[in-house]
Amino acid sequence: MTRLYDTRKRVLVTGGAGFIGSHLIDRLLGMGNEVLCVDNLFTGTKRNIEHLHGEPRFEFMRHDVTFPLYVEVDEIYNLACPASPVHYQHDPVQTTKASVHGAINMLGLAKRLGCKIFQASTSEVYGDPVMHPQTEEYWGNVNPIGPRSCYDEGKRCAETLFFDYRREHEVNIKVARIFNTYGPRMHHADGRVVSNFIVQALGGEDITLFGTGDQTRSFCYVDDLVEGILRLMETESTITGPVNLGNPGEYTIRELAEKVVRLTGSSSGIVYRDLPEDDPKQRCPDITMAREIMAWEPGVTVDEGLNRTVTYFQNLLSEMTLVSA
Ligand code: NAD
Ligand code: UDP
Ligand code: UDP
Repeated sequence: MTRLYDTRKRVLVTGGAGFIGSHLIDRLLGMGNEVLCVDNLFTGTKRNIEHLHGEPRFEFMRHDVTFPLYVEVDEIYNLACPASPVHYQHDPVQTTKASVHGAINMLGLAKRLGCKIFQASTSEVYGDPVMHPQTEEYWGNVNPIGPRSCYDEGKRCAETLFFDYRREHEVNIKVARIFNTYGPRMHHADGRVVSNFIVQALGGEDITLFGTGDQTRSFCYVDDLVEGILRLMETESTITGPVNLGNPGEYTIRELAEKVVRLTGSSSGIVYRDLPEDDPKQRCPDITMAREIMAWEPGVTVDEGLNRTVTYFQNLLSEMTLVSA
């Protein structure tokens, strides 16, 4: 039900022009909230939010969260950070700043406003995990000086800041450790495996399998993830997380490649490339906590989610072909 004007919540979403952030904004607007989207458009695009043009309850502010932000809101979702290995390794110092300075600024804002704040943490805090599947108690196995460290350690430090702002300043925090998520509005060229494979398959190019393809990941469809984020935000204030959000179905990357080829009806072959340094060998969430505290679990099967994502990329690629023609 739509809220009356004077009872509407004003919600800040940082990183709102990105893949997950833009879906979250759609849901928040659908629930009757006002939304302020703050994004520096480093990896996000205006295309992800252009359908909101003219929506009076939506506002976009181009801003980098590594700088202070003085706005008045009732709730904060902090998602601003490049998320794909290609993007976060492009300017690693800026990546750490986005996580750490971004967290300090958004926590400072939440502290001043006395409002609830959500942090998009990641399964990368578990590094190359020796515990499998990963539960929230596991402290992780992270290289502090490798090419992925700017992201992993930045996100770990952000979690530390969230819990210290809670202990020291009683900020109401909600921390989710998000596992690999996919769906429409992923950036077509950010190098993540689902978008890479689909774009390659649709273009009839070879599928690039890194290493042997025996490494595993668990893939969550974006709508399921956003539902989990919203439910976590609604839990009582004693619940802080960190809580795993992901789909416990686990696939080898070779299985994913085969699935994508089958679903697209592509004639693409598979080529092998070197495994990137520190690429985790296995990743699968234990979601017992999310099931218990908010009765959440993913509902979209990987085949269904991939089909929806394929349709999105088919449309995107044909639009891009028309533009360049
Ligand atoms: P994305 O790259 O599409 O979105 C990130 C958004 O943050 C982009 O719009 C980008 O422009 C913006 N941004 C980056 N640096 C910024 C800065 N300094 N100031 C303001 N805006 C900035 O990626 P995504 O997949 O939508 O990820 C969103 C969040 O979820 C990220 O924090 C990411 O770490 C986290 N996460 C995502 C996944 C996943 O599988 N997609 C998994 C774990 C965690
Ligand atoms: N901050 C912000 N918006 C606010 C309040 C604070 O961006 O509305 C930033 C501020 O610039 C500061 C950071 O958040 O650097 C941390 O704020 P906090 O009050 O915790 O720390 P302090 O200002 O005491 O260093
Ligand atoms: N990957 C691959 N081919 C690609 C892109 C990625 O084999 O074109 C592999 C990558 O090495 C990793 C997995 O797919 O093992 C997931 O990669 P992604 O970058 O999507 O996410 P992350 O490694 O951060 O989980």
